[in-house]
Formats: sequence, C-alpha cells, structure tokens
Amino acid sequence: MEYFEDYEVEPSEVDKIIDEAKNKIVKLVEENAKTELDDEFKRSEILSKRLAEKETLIVQKDFEIDTLNKKIKELTETIQKKKTEMPLTNFNIGDSVYLIETDGKKHSIQCPRCNGTGHVTFMVGDEEIEGKCPICKGHSHYDYNLSKSEVEFYQYKPSSSYEIIGIQLDLKDSKISVTYFVGSFRCPFVESEIYKSYGEAKIACEEANKKSLEKAQRELEGKETKEDRS
Ligand SMILES: [Zn+2]
Repeated sequence: MEYFEDYEVEPSEVDKIIDEAKNKIVKLVEENAKTELDDEFKRSEILSKRLAEKETLIVQKDFEIDTLNKKIKELTETIQKKKTEMPLTNFNIGDSVYLIETDGKKHSIQCPRCNGTGHVTFMVGDEEIEGKCPICKGHSHYDYNLSKSEVEFYQYKPSSSYEIIGIQLDLKDSKISVTYFVGSFRCPFVESEIYKSYGEAKIACEEANKKSLEKAQRELEGKETKEDRS
C-alpha cells in the first residue's frame, strides 16, 4: 500500500489518529447537539411557564367575568325592583281627562219648618205663641244675601275634556307624590281630582252634590257652622 509507504506511518498509528479524530468529531457533535437540546429545553420551559401564566390569567379573567356577570344580574334585579316600587301613575301625558266643576247656579235650602224665618208659632191651648224654630233653632247665618235659616251650597257637574300636559313627581318624607297639570290650568291636580271618563266624573259629581247638600242641612240645623265647610 503506497499510502503507508509515502508517510512512513505504521498502520496502527493511522488507525489511532483516525479513531482520535472520529472521537473528537463525535464528541463535538454530541456537545453541539447537547447544547442545542439544552437551549431547546430552556425555550420550551420558558414557553411552558408562559403558557401556565396565560392559563392562570384566563382563569382569573373568567372569575372576574363571573363576578361582573353576577353584579350585572344584581343590578338588573335592583332596577327591576325599583321600577315596581315606583308608583305607577294612573294617567299619562296626552290622556284626555275630566274634572268636576261647580254648575254655576245658585243653590240654597231654607229651613222647611220655619221657611227660613227662624221662628215658628205654637198653639198652647187657644193661645198662639211664637218661639224659636225647633229644626234650625233660629240659627242665623249673618249673610245679608240670605234670609235667616237659609244656607247656600254648591252643586257640581263634569267639565269638558282636558288633556294632561305634565306630570310632576315629588319626593316628600320618603314618599313620592304625583301631581298633574291639566289643560291650561295653572294649579296642579291630584289623582283623586281627575277622571278617566265623563261617566266617572258624573258619578263623582253626584257623590259631591249629595255631600254638599248634607253639609248644608247640617249647617241649617246648627250642627255645623259655615266655617266648618271645606
Ligand atoms: Zn227653621
């Protein structure tokens, strides 16, 4: 073999050199691969750690979303409750309503017994005696336009229809009061003073008329003074 002859190296020496070189290369490759693997491992470890962090964050965010959803639910329920607690007004803006008003006529009652004079005559035996009327007790109302024992009173009728143009809610002593602005009237009305229909207003008028007459009769009989009238 010419190769060995040229370099005059023993074949066993050559094998040794080759083996050594081989070993060095293998070691180098191994070390390189190990370093690369180590780096790869470190990178994957970092990535795993980041992933774990992200997962923790997701769990946290999920919890936060849950908490917020619960809060939204609570608030929605509170709003719903407040809405039902709010007084529902019986009337709305734009509704046509009726009021009751005085009929513009003069109404008065006289004592039926003494015809408003306050005096009656009794027959005692053959004698005629004048005395105070037992019904009105001769009650005088000191009103120049009225005769003695005569009482004026009001009578009511339904108004024409008006439109509700405003509703006012006032908070007073933790209670909400509702007042309405009707037609061109400048004064506000409470709910009990306005009526949905002519029929309802008419029934209310009949009731008010009855009360007014009864009050006048009590006044006539001296059971109530004019000042007691509201
Ligand atoms: Zn009388």
